[in-house]
Amino acid sequence: MEFRDLKQQYLSNKDAIDKAVTEVMKSGTYIGGKWVTQLEQRLADYTDVQYCISCANGTDALQLALMAWEIGPKDAVFVPDFTFFSTAEAVAQCGATPIFVDVNEKTFNMNYKSLEYAIEQVQKNSELIPKAIIAVDLFGLPAEYEYIKKIACRYGMKVLEDAAQGFGGRIEEKKAGSFGDIATTSFFPAKPLGCYGDGGAIFTNDEMIKERLCSLKVHGKGVDKYDNVRIGMNSRLDTIQAAILLEKLRIFKEYELMKVNEAAGWYYDILKGKVKVPEVPQGYYSSWAQYTVVLGEQVSRDAVQDYLGQKGIPTMIYYKKPLHRQKAFEACAQICDCPVTEMLCEKVLSLPIHPYMDYDMVELIADSLQRAMKR
Ligand SMILES: *Cc1c(COP(=O)(O)O)cnc(C)c1O
Repeated sequence: MEFRDLKQQYLSNKDAIDKAVTEVMKSGTYIGGKWVTQLEQRLADYTDVQYCISCANGTDALQLALMAWEIGPKDAVFVPDFTFFSTAEAVAQCGATPIFVDVNEKTFNMNYKSLEYAIEQVQKNSELIPKAIIAVDLFGLPAEYEYIKKIACRYGMKVLEDAAQGFGGRIEEKKAGSFGDIATTSFFPAKPLGCYGDGGAIFTNDEMIKERLCSLKVHGKGVDKYDNVRIGMNSRLDTIQAAILLEKLRIFKEYELMKVNEAAGWYYDILKGKVKVPEVPQGYYSSWAQYTVVLGEQVSRDAVQDYLGQKGIPTMIYYKKPLHRQKAFEACAQICDCPVTEMLCEKVLSLPIHPYMDYDMVELIADSLQRAMKR
């Protein structure tokens, strides 16, 4: 059994994907070209955002967004303590200070009350200027933008939506990728919409920011890439990956997003009341990058993982360590109180989930988990 069955996904769509790749190979265009332009258009249409700018990966996307806002030393950027390293790495890469904010036990996403408290602490006790909030759509579920945006507005801050895991999610009819002043996503193979290598994209409705991003991702280009008006990066999406993504976006919309939600529904029906299962708040829709349960206090996670492993069921721990405990952030983890993140890091367990699971597979995993917890 695979944790996320990418090979099955390829085999189910082999003809369309092979054809797309071959067309690029035959065209002689390997960077840029019509595939990249068309993909950006389709992604902008899907998320209902004016501009989509593709780039090399989800980490660059975050960094480019912060660079477009000219965030740097003396600036504070608020990030959840419970997320993948990149979210805070991009902040540090710009020379700014990441401030770690605790998350909500139920949604795993940034707790807006902790956010407001952290902003006030920074204003009171440091020289840093609160500039931006990076809200992460963790495990596929959009963050609570209604509250986060109000807070951003009150303190004159920007909101960056890290939708690396959130593509395909929504709140009511509004899609992930449209919640921030800028939003970013990743097409790393195991993300909800993945390619067959690295890839990423940035979304915004702000034309000036769009122009700046297009420059920043190509060496800070001016009229062309040999005219350089600012220090940028080299961060492009490969043409082959764009062609693959055009096919995969179609499959994602037609099939995968629905199927992965069906699998999550099966888990929920079987496991509800037996273990803490993820709850999707009213009006929210998840794209299920992960299916993460929280084990009870008295259950040994190591023993559960071992037992499932012996049955051939792979599991993962997202995430083992609060970001503020990462050695890389030693210097900037001073203002931080994140008890929920600490608890989650001890007790979470992510189960296999992907669009190519059938009911029997979900049932086998769920039953084995219950047996493991009783031992
Ligand atoms: C995967 C991920 C990223 C980074 O994406 P890459 O394409 O791997 O650089 C950023 N933020 C979060 C929350 C992620 O899960």
